Amino acid sequence: MIVCRTIDDVRREINTLKSKGLSVGLVPTMGALHKGHTTLFDIAGEHSDAVVASIFVNPTQFGPNEDFDSYPRQLESDLEICKKHKISIVFAPDKGEMYHEAKFLRIEIDSLNEHMCGSSRPGFFEGVLLIVNKLFNIIQPHLAVFGQKDIQQFMILNRMNEEFNHGIKMIMAPVVRVNDGLALSSRNAYLSDEERYIAPGLYRALQFIEKQILSGVREPGLMIRHQISELEAKGFKIDYINTFSHTTLQPVNTLVQHEKYILAGAVWLGSTRLIDNILIESLQ
Ligand code: AMP
Repeated sequence: MIVCRTIDDVRREINTLKSKGLSVGLVPTMGALHKGHTTLFDIAGEHSDAVVASIFVNPTQFGPNEDFDSYPRQLESDLEICKKHKISIVFAPDKGEMYHEAKFLRIEIDSLNEHMCGSSRPGFFEGVLLIVNKLFNIIQPHLAVFGQKDIQQFMILNRMNEEFNHGIKMIMAPVVRVNDGLALSSRNAYLSDEERYIAPGLYRALQFIEKQILSGVREPGLMIRHQISELEAKGFKIDYINTFSHTTLQPVNTLVQHEKYILAGAVWLGSTRLIDNILIESLQ
């Protein structure tokens, strides 16, 4: 496994791989690796000859009051994990390598960030778009793997891939969970014991709503509000829980047959923000 700290180095190593005719899969991460990430590594490995993992805590996707400084950083143990999962190249640049002081351009998102996490985290998805656009240009992989856990991120990056003609095969990996249903996240480390105990409540609420929808409820608003009240009573602060169109990411009040929806939620437990979602495929 080769560890590259600069863009020149990683470009040289990638060119060597490609000159041997090998296909390259990319998995962008912010490190603090867990099974959610390694599942993406393994999926990338199944679909490509060599996997590049990037590890970079991207400053442009953190708001001024968010956890950029305290975000867990553990490069040494991350590298061990990468080795175990047969990563060929780790690209771990520092901030100065990825961003110059002067900034004259920015990418704007038209409408896919109006709702869900976009409305409560202004600038977040522009920051994600910027860094992944850079990574796509630097690595020029054949395919890239992202997690369903951050489904809005995947949908926006998928549009970027199409609209900016990157021509990369985009794979969305399913949400990886702990036994009690909590989606794995580097931020779970912030939860107190008590918060960790109730944290799976978000997924349980989503599962309950999903079940009702699958058994015929077409206007889930009232039921969602009821689930929100129950979560609030347990100590959650709700950012949003709703059904959204799979194509436009706009909230949908009345569900119709044969359409695909995202049932998604974001909540706070103390100072920790948790997100989760379930895909509702083609209703009967
Ligand atoms: P992050 O390091 O949080 O930026 O995540 C890097 C990639 O791992 C993103 O594509 C995430 O969607 C994905 N990921 C993180 N946690 C999970 C999880 N529990 N299940 C599936 N994918 C995940």
